[in-house]
Amino acid sequence: MKPVDAAGDFLDVLVTKDQINERLAELAKQIENDYQNKNVLLVGVLKGAVMLMADLSRQLSFSVEMDWMAVSSYGKGTTSSGVVRILKDLDADIANRHVLILEDIVDSGLTLSWLVQNLRARQPASLEVFALLRKPEAIQVHVDVKYVGFDIPPDFVVGYGLDYAEGYRNLDSVATLNPAVYSERP
Ligand code: 5GP
Repeated sequence: MKPVDAAGDFLDVLVTKDQINERLAELAKQIENDYQNKNVLLVGVLKGAVMLMADLSRQLSFSVEMDWMAVSSYGKGTTSSGVVRILKDLDADIANRHVLILEDIVDSGLTLSWLVQNLRARQPASLEVFALLRKPEAIQVHVDVKYVGFDIPPDFVVGYGLDYAEGYRNLDSVATLNPAVYSERP
């Protein structure tokens, strides 16, 4: 069994567990302020937003509902295909609901822009986006992201829900992966 923080696999920890917790607490306050007296439906994008959903929702002092959507993105590679497919749709009808999408990372913006368009067509009362990470240099399509955890450089990252070939999601920080790791496992 390979340790999640195997020495040599990670070039750099970009965002630590403590930094994530601190930033989520700040953004949770902002969300509480923005959604006073409203019922919020958090929509997590599987599987990357699992940790974010668990940690952010527990920082909120009001009760929220949760739903999940799974869309295809990178497969096993490290570049965006731009082709989006729904693998799992929402259980809830979001018409007239206040929906906040939780996304792990915005890279090219292609996935998110598609998702926002798709959900907007279902006529929610409001639709906003929360992204833990954003790579400003990689954005190809503009999407309004109301809540951003951290802007990071355009390197491939893993941890805190983000995977490489389904591994490393359970790393509690966000780290860059040594390119040697993915040249070993095409
Ligand atoms: P986009 O369509 O914005 O290029 O990519 C969005 C999706 O690609 C994210 O939800 C995530 O699943 C995946 N992705 C983008 N950048 C990274 C990265 O640096 N690491 C990992 N593990 N996944 C990424």
